[in-house]
Amino acid sequence: MMLYYHGTVILSVILSTIFVVRWRRGISVHFPIIFVFIPVINLGYLSVANATSVNEALLANGIEYLDGCFLELFFFLYVLNFCKLKIPKICTGILMTIGSLLLFISINTGNNGLLYTHAELRKLNGVSYLVKTYGPAHTIYYGMIAFYLVANLSVIIYSMTRKNISKTNSILLLVVYLVIMLAFIGGKAFHPALQLLPASYLFSQIIFLIILSRLAMYDISENAISSLSENGTIGFATFDMKMRYLGCTDPAIKCIPELEYLYIDQPLTAENENFASILKCVDKIQISSDSSHFYVTQDDISYKITISRLYVGKRQKGYQLRTEDNTLEAKKMEALKLKERQKEMEAELLKLAKKTAESANEAKSSFLAQMSHEIRTPINAILGMNEMILHESNEPGIREYADNIKSSGRTLLSLINSILDFSKIEDGKMEIVSVNYDTAGMINDLENAIAERAKQKGLELIVEADKSLPRTLIGDDIRIKQIITNLLTNAVKYTEKGSIKLEIRNNGDSEGLQMIYVAVTDTGIGIREEEIGTMTEAFKRLEMNHNRNIEGTGLGLAIVTGLLNKMDSHLQVKSVYREGSTFSFILPQRVADYMPMGDYRTKERSSVAKAGKKEAAFTVPDAKILVVDDNKMNLKVAAKLLGLYGVKADMSSSGKDTLEVLSKKQYDIIFLDHMMPEMDGIEVLKEIKAKKLVPESTRIIALTANAISGVRDMYLSEGFDDYLSKPIETKEMEHILAKYLLSDNGNADNGADTEE
Ligand code: ADP
Repeated sequence: MMLYYHGTVILSVILSTIFVVRWRRGISVHFPIIFVFIPVINLGYLSVANATSVNEALLANGIEYLDGCFLELFFFLYVLNFCKLKIPKICTGILMTIGSLLLFISINTGNNGLLYTHAELRKLNGVSYLVKTYGPAHTIYYGMIAFYLVANLSVIIYSMTRKNISKTNSILLLVVYLVIMLAFIGGKAFHPALQLLPASYLFSQIIFLIILSRLAMYDISENAISSLSENGTIGFATFDMKMRYLGCTDPAIKCIPELEYLYIDQPLTAENENFASILKCVDKIQISSDSSHFYVTQDDISYKITISRLYVGKRQKGYQLRTEDNTLEAKKMEALKLKERQKEMEAELLKLAKKTAESANEAKSSFLAQMSHEIRTPINAILGMNEMILHESNEPGIREYADNIKSSGRTLLSLINSILDFSKIEDGKMEIVSVNYDTAGMINDLENAIAERAKQKGLELIVEADKSLPRTLIGDDIRIKQIITNLLTNAVKYTEKGSIKLEIRNNGDSEGLQMIYVAVTDTGIGIREEEIGTMTEAFKRLEMNHNRNIEGTGLGLAIVTGLLNKMDSHLQVKSVYREGSTFSFILPQRVADYMPMGDYRTKERSSVAKAGKKEAAFTVPDAKILVVDDNKMNLKVAAKLLGLYGVKADMSSSGKDTLEVLSKKQYDIIFLDHMMPEMDGIEVLKEIKAKKLVPESTRIIALTANAISGVRDMYLSEGFDDYLSKPIETKEMEHILAKYLLSDNGNADNGADTEE
């Protein structure tokens, strides 16, 4: 039994030591007192059990009265504190005084009749114990015990009704108190020498330690809350590791009103939107970060709610929730979003505008194609008939008129072509088609194309071409010719006297490309320096008062720069006002044959050079030719032109009619118009091919007024053998006849040039 008393003392000292080790600031002051008293009281019990005389036992017995006198008092004060209740200081003072008096009496008076009327020491199994008859002071002591019993139980039961007090802790306190009371009342129920109280104290120490560790969380939250609650805009709430609610501040309730109805230790559930968001944030924190946030709007105020881990030292003990007024930022965000939305809207509008512009452009392109067809068809007739006049009339006056008609008609045609080309460049639809071309032939053609005009104006034409230029280059010869012809034409137009010079030089090679330097220099009116920058703008014409009589649209240079851009080059302009100008560019070209071209003049003269021929170069009277066109005038022109070559052509004015004719008769060449009502030329061609109406040797040539660039390729890809544009130029017609009839037609009168 002595072991029991020794054990209770040692264990209570150990538990008190644990308390000291785990001591931290913020723990209620009553706890250390309780943890000091218990080992002392237990020591009292041990001393009684060990006593050899009555007096010795009575002295030790006095220490046991620390329980009723002070332990109960501090327990009571703690319970009040726990329930956030306060009693007047005077009451505490009175209780302290009564406790001190009783303790004084119990230690000093002993067996003098005040506390005990009689006391004797007995021994059982080696354990001493006192047998006492109680005196009047002891009744006061019982009174005190009874008072504390009622007071403690009432406060603990009251605490259970409060939602902001942890119920678990209240129950633990109740259990401790009941155990102590039972041990007190039960006293020595089992054995006169065996006191139950020391064991119950041990039990209470253990429970207190548990309560303390639970309280750590509340203390932390309280500390945190008190430090933050001063700032009115920041709210704060805390939860333990299992998301049980520990406490919160008023600003937090303002932001999340549902917090107000939580009781301490209540686990948070997703019972409303805010709590669900909090729990979602906690889940997020588990996976990746230390904190996570969401936003709520309450009473027109926007809050940012941040959930983060709550640490005590290095160990996480729970979670903290922080609410802060975010209205300003939210407004900024809103403004930003609004701006973004505005930008999106603007982009959408821009897209819409672009789309509209694109469809307008498409409409424009198709309008231009249509217009080109519509204008070319009558001009075709005019120029065709005019060609007849030139062929048939020897009257000088009439020939002069006809020449004028021819030149004006051509000007009109080139104008339409310029507009079409420019609109194509603008739409990004101008394509560069690279083919092998003969360098010398190209220079020859250029010289021939401008020689006549230069001569008419009395200008000297100088052509300088490096002999070392590669013989065959790869590029879009048609477009290159167009660029240089435009520059040469301008040079002639804007020069009254002096010379025009075309220079084509070998500028070395770079990255496998041959650099060709091209320059057109004139001694003409020149351009003011300030106007050089804007002269390439579309429809821009300079010096209108001087140049009024010079034909032009202001599109030539715009087309030149557009085409050069497409060919990775750009136009350089140098000019001295009233002295002359030089337009130059460097053109990168691939090379097909590196042999130097030598003197370009020794090359055969090109087809352009032969343009002046009046008499047919050959006749092919046996050739079987069918011309298909819905326009009677066009048929007439074609028939007359073919007549020059001795051909008696058949005519057809519709697709349907053509199919019928073909089923009866075979032809060497069919000139097939594209745009016809009902069946158009392409449909007729497809039908002819599908039904195999003509032998393989028959050539079908597209005949069209459609002059948009790239159209030739379109016809070839549709299955036509060649392309002849309206108005039909005699030389082009001759070229086609020679190409397809002379090589295998021995009847030809004369071996005309069959170059291809
Ligand atoms: P246009 O059809 O009027 O010739 P261009 O686009 O070819 O249109 O040229 C634009 C303007 O640049 C011309 O109207 C003219 O004023 C000026 N210009 C072009 N080439 C020359 C040149 N060789 N000498 C002087 N001025 C020129």
